[in-house]
Amino acid sequence: MKRLTIEQLLGVNKFVLDDEQAHIKVNKQICSGCQPKPCTFACPASLFSIKDGELSFDYAGCLECGTCRVVCPHAGVAIEWQYPRGGFGVHYRYG
Ligand code: SF4
Repeated sequence: MKRLTIEQLLGVNKFVLDDEQAHIKVNKQICSGCQPKPCTFACPASLFSIKDGELSFDYAGCLECGTCRVVCPHAGVAIEWQYPRGGFGVHYRYG
């Protein structure tokens, strides 16, 4: 049996985006003062990155693991986190 890479495994998942209500909201003003920015290397889906010196985040592709909420030094303030509404979010598939 061929072993799949992380990217291949993530690629079989299906995401239903909720365009009206993001389940994770990031306060970029608070994040701009955060030096370690652990979310940029802890998110397994690599949804946090630095672009033009500013934190960039897109909730599309979120695995709903909660890691960003746990590692954030400003937890509960910089990252507003909740599960997606019913029918939205990740649908795990096993290729
Ligand atoms: Fe990334 Fe997990 Fe946070 Fe989603 S919940 S943005 S996958 S760390």
